[in-house]
Amino acid sequence: SEAGFGEWPHPRWVRVNTIKSDLDEQLKTTFAGYKTVQSLEELLRYHPSSAEKLIHVDKHVPNLLALPPATDLSKTPAYLNGHIILQDKASCFPAYLLCPELEDGGCLDACAAPGNKTTHLAAILHDGGRAAAIPNIYAYERDKGRASTLLTLLQTAGAQDHVIAKVGQDFLRTDPAKTPWDSIGALILDPSCSGSGIVGRDETSNVILPSKEASDLLPVRSKKRKRRPTIDTTLNVHDVSEEIPIREDKPSDQLSVRLTALSTFQLKLLLHAFHFPKARRITYSTCSLYAEENEHVVMKALRSSIAQERGWQILRREEQICGMNMWKMRGKVEACIDIAMDEEIDTAEIAEACIRCEKGTKEGTQGFFVAGFVRQVESPGTDQL
Ligand code: SAM
Repeated sequence: SEAGFGEWPHPRWVRVNTIKSDLDEQLKTTFAGYKTVQSLEELLRYHPSSAEKLIHVDKHVPNLLALPPATDLSKTPAYLNGHIILQDKASCFPAYLLCPELEDGGCLDACAAPGNKTTHLAAILHDGGRAAAIPNIYAYERDKGRASTLLTLLQTAGAQDHVIAKVGQDFLRTDPAKTPWDSIGALILDPSCSGSGIVGRDETSNVILPSKEASDLLPVRSKKRKRRPTIDTTLNVHDVSEEIPIREDKPSDQLSVRLTALSTFQLKLLLHAFHFPKARRITYSTCSLYAEENEHVVMKALRSSIAQERGWQILRREEQICGMNMWKMRGKVEACIDIAMDEEIDTAEIAEACIRCEKGTKEGTQGFFVAGFVRQVESPGTDQL
């Protein structure tokens, strides 16, 4: 690997929750006595047995810190009181890329539990109490068990007054034409996926159970449904996922069938989001490494009739917020070409617009994918949609 001694270790990522605190306050309190290093590499190369405590302020995502891999913050008051949230860097990309504005008229997180992106969204919109408690974020979570984790995180993060949690409810059942959905301006879609990018997980060892729509398409279903612990102290909270292990059977054969099922469901969700009449921005993300769940879904969505009808386009790299524009790892152009089938589509531009993260690199993230979609919405009165 690039490190020359195997994979790069995975740092402990810490998002400062700007609803309750700020970066300066955390550096002066929870992380007082830590030495700030300018590069992540310096932090990762440092010998774990060293007595020196190191910290790095991320250069892509605001209010994000990296600490050495073994750092346990789970007993600190800052973590327990929701002043900091343990969230992988890549998992912070969707809300940051979405760039929500209070004027957007409401945001919706379609697949919310355990709530990392919902609380990040709330922190961006309600940074330092910038706005009064306006419940302008809707968070859908169809699994009631997982929704209880979401409610706990909302409470801990102080986001409960900003977010209306739709516990046990299916995003696909919303009618975009009805109030209040007809005024939603921005959506985050972070659907169930293969989880192949999660640190510590083998790419073919298991597949996450998608929502009912996708699981109905699966030919073989494991009877045993294994749950991971609600809060995993070694990995970040995002890694809590629902799984069906498929190790015993024929992982590779089943994998392609399951990837088809997952991507069918992921595309369905994204196309449903395209129907929201006032929506101007959407992010689509997975913690998967597979093109089938990533670039292929993006390409199919862009080629859909609803995208053409409503004017949905990819959020091009040059239009992305600075930290995301600066991020070097981009989508795979070959994967876009596989689906394009149309010479007019600029596959290079679309691949460049897609953001990828690989695990085990010196960037220190989990494997992840995110793409943004944008459209112009006509002003009231002229909107024919
Ligand atoms: N965004 C979350 C975060 O950052 O903490 C992680 C989301 S996890 C990858 C996907 C979640 O979507 C699961 O909790 C799953 O139960 C939920 N889900 C899947 N299909 C859904 C649907 N149709 N409506 C609402 N929630 C759904």
